[in-house]
Amino acid sequence: MKVNYQTSNGRISVEIEGDSQRDIFAEIARFQEVFEETVCGKCGSENLRFVVRNVDDNLYYELRCMDCGAKLSFGSHKKGGGLFPKRKDGDNWLPDRGWVKWNPKTEKNE
Ligand SMILES: [Zn+2]
Repeated sequence: MKVNYQTSNGRISVEIEGDSQRDIFAEIARFQEVFEETVCGKCGSENLRFVVRNVDDNLYYELRCMDCGAKLSFGSHKKGGGLFPKRKDGDNWLPDRGWVKWNPKTEKNE
C-alpha cells in the first residue's frame, strides 16, 4: 500500500510505500524523526533551513535557525545510512532538544 504523508507545517510531502501497517508506521517514524522538526529549540522560530556542510569530504547534516543561528546536528546510522537528530550527549539528553548555539564568550556550542 501507499500513503501520502505531509509534515504538520505542510512544507514537505512524501509518498511512503510498505507491505503492511507496520512497514508504513516504521517509515513514517523514520521520516518524522528527521523532517518533522519544525521549530527551533532555542527561540521557537519556524524559519529553519536544511544545511549540508562538507569538511574535508566529511558531510555534516544540520538544521539551522535563520533567526537566532542555533543548529541541530544529525548523525547517520551505521546500518542503512539513515539520519537521526543528535539529542543526546552520551547517555544524557541535551537541553533544548539538542539545539545548540555558538557562544563566542566561552567558544563552545551551548
Ligand atoms: Zn532559533
